[in-house]
Amino acid sequence: MKAKMWVKSERGALCRLCPHFCCLSAEKPLGRCNVRYYKNGEVFTLVDTHLAAVHVDPVEKKPLYHFMPGSKALSVGTVGCNLHCLWCQNHSLITAAQSDRVFFSDYENLKPLFGQAYNASDLVRFAVSEGIESFAYTYNEPTVFFEQMQNIAELAAENGKSNIMVSNGYFSKQAFEELKSFIHAFNIDIKAFSEKTYQTFCSASLKPVLDSCVRIKEAGLHLEITTLLIPDVNDSTEELTLLAAFIKENLGRETVWHLSAFHPDYEMRGNIPTPLAVLDKAFEIGKKAGIEYIYYGNVPKENNTLCPQCRSVLVRRNGYFVQVSDGFSGSCPHCGQKISGIWHSGQQAKP
Ligand code: SF4
Repeated sequence: MKAKMWVKSERGALCRLCPHFCCLSAEKPLGRCNVRYYKNGEVFTLVDTHLAAVHVDPVEKKPLYHFMPGSKALSVGTVGCNLHCLWCQNHSLITAAQSDRVFFSDYENLKPLFGQAYNASDLVRFAVSEGIESFAYTYNEPTVFFEQMQNIAELAAENGKSNIMVSNGYFSKQAFEELKSFIHAFNIDIKAFSEKTYQTFCSASLKPVLDSCVRIKEAGLHLEITTLLIPDVNDSTEELTLLAAFIKENLGRETVWHLSAFHPDYEMRGNIPTPLAVLDKAFEIGKKAGIEYIYYGNVPKENNTLCPQCRSVLVRRNGYFVQVSDGFSGSCPHCGQKISGIWHSGQQAKP
C-alpha cells in the first residue's frame, strides 16, 4: 500500500509522519521504524493490511479510566516502532520488524511484514456483532501503521464506534491534523521528563511528545497520560515534580495521570522492578502539584475515582473489575460536581 505523509526530495523522499523526518532514497530505502520503504520514487507501508495482534480488552487495560468505564475495546497492532526503548514490554513486535530487515529480503516485492491480513469491514462487523464499543490502536506505535489505522477508524466511526490511540506521542503536527479527525481518545506515554533520558533510552526526544499532548488538549480531545516509573531512570523527585507541573500547567489539573510499575524486560532485564514506594512518591508529587486523578498501574491496588469535591466514590476499580456508582454519568450524584471524561457511549465524544 502507498504510504501517506511524505514528499519528494532531491535524493528521494522525506517522510513527514513522525518527528524523525527520515530521508528515504534508493541507497537508504527503510525508515527508522523499519516499516516504511522507498521504491521507484514513492514511499510504501510494509505493514499494509497486516495485523500482528488482535484482541478484545477491557478499555481499562489501555489504560483509559475516564473513557466509557467497563466497556470493551478491540485492540489491534502491527510490527515496527519509531522509538527504540530499552525497557520495551512489547519488544517482540518491534524486533520482528528489525529482524526481518536482516533475514527477510522480500522488500522489493513490497510484501507485508509479519502478521495476518485483516479487512477493516470484517473487524468492524465483528465489533458490532460482539457489542464492542471502541477500537484501540495499540501494542506497537500506531503512528507507524497510520494508513491502516485510518482505514479501520473511519469505518468504525461510521458504525458508531470510538477510536483510541495508545501512543508514544511521537507523531508530527501534520499527522495530528489528520488524527484529530478520527481519533476520539488518546493515551500518551510520557516516558520521562528529560531530553537526555529520551535520547539515551528511547532514541528520540521529549519535546515533540509534549507538543503532541498540548495539541490533543487544545483540540478538545480526550487525553490520559501514562508514565512507566523505572528506578534510577526517571523517578527522581526533581524530574517527577517537573513532569507533574507540566501536566497541571499545560494539560489541566483534570487530566488523568497513570503511574505504572516497571517489570524488568528486553534490554533492561537486570534492573529492579519498581517498588511500591516509588509509585507512592510520584502519587504524592502529582497530588501536591494539583492533579485531580492519579491511578496506579501494574500493581494490585484499588483505583477508585473519587469526586474531587465531596470525595464520594464514583467508579470502583480493582484489577479489571469496574463498578460505576448508581446515578453517576458524568456529574457527582451527591454534590453535582462535573467529572471530566467520556462516561458512556451516548455522551458526545469529539470528533
Ligand atoms: S514514520 Fe518511520 S519512516 Fe517516517 S519519519 Fe518516522 S521513523 Fe521515519
